Amino acid sequence: MIDEPARVLYTQGIMVIAIKKGTPPEEMRAFADILEQQGVTVHISEGASQTILGLIGDTSRIDEERLRAQRLVEKVIRVQAPYKRAHRQFHPEDTRIAIAGPDGGTKYIGGGFLGIIAGPCSVESRDQIIGIASAVKQAGAGFLRGGAFKPRTSPYSFQGLGEEGLDLLLAAKKETGLPIVSELMDISHIDAFDEVDIIQIGARNMQNFTLLKELGQRRKPILLKRGLASTIKELLMAAEYLIAGGNEHIILCERGIRTFEDFTRNTLDLSAVPALKRESHLPVIVDPSHASGLAWMVPALAKAAVAAGADGVMIEVHNNPETARCDGEQSITPEEFAGLMTALRKYAACEGRSL
Ligand code: PEP
Ligand code: MN
Repeated sequence: MIDEPARVLYTQGIMVIAIKKGTPPEEMRAFADILEQQGVTVHISEGASQTILGLIGDTSRIDEERLRAQRLVEKVIRVQAPYKRAHRQFHPEDTRIAIAGPDGGTKYIGGGFLGIIAGPCSVESRDQIIGIASAVKQAGAGFLRGGAFKPRTSPYSFQGLGEEGLDLLLAAKKETGLPIVSELMDISHIDAFDEVDIIQIGARNMQNFTLLKELGQRRKPILLKRGLASTIKELLMAAEYLIAGGNEHIILCERGIRTFEDFTRNTLDLSAVPALKRESHLPVIVDPSHASGLAWMVPALAKAAVAAGADGVMIEVHNNPETARCDGEQSITPEEFAGLMTALRKYAACEGRSL
């Protein structure tokens, strides 16, 4: 048996209507109302160069020929990909995720804005997280990361400080004004994530459909990491679960995949960046830390990611990588991070993108 959101996706076509330039907005809205009377939901996406109507629901009763005959219709397309609302056809412009900062300002990821997320693999102590947060902020990071609930391969490894870790992360947010990113592993912890600005779904949970369905009901931005052995299509289908539930605030993250190569912890699939950006309107960031597992390789991969069109990077930074309780080998120091930021600023500037 196929479960409900998937069944809806596969059996009910999504239709996209491109509206002719210069169409008066009232005329377009009246047209959208007529379509809605035929039992579909119309999603209007007004871009700078093109307005698109995305029809969701049972489009089987909509007569395509008649649509094409309408004066205001430029083109009618049926989206064939199984990921429909994540597809760029549905929303031709880049999606820009807005995150309200604690200082009253708004930060963006996507649509020309690079999101630079930095911080330790896991929150270890008040001094550690506040010290790193201040250093990465000083260097120009836009967001602070820190794991409180850690998905560890061994049950004997440090599992994170849990709720205490989130409290410390919130203290660092208060101190620095940086919005925070942290991984949610179990929906039963959701209440503790109230003040977490971006919820991370880790690689190991990318296909935890129960979790995805729950998060689809919320309006929190989600950082969705690609599974260790997931295809680009599977990542987009995971995003589709969130969008199908109504949560469109998604940032995709390429973090390396399993291959035969064992020089690096994983293999950074940089081709996923242009592929995802071509297929989807969602912002795409790269995590070179988990991709390589090697601190010395992180700056090169981070620069390559931005050059390949990524909308940001997520970097593990630790004040003392040698004593880190998790992922020290792949963590760069605040000084190294500051050096990387100098380079990333130049890359961003030459492409006309903002940090
Ligand atoms: C992390 O970012 O801390 C993490 C565990 O990453 P991933 O899920 O990509 O392994
Ligand atoms: Mn880590």
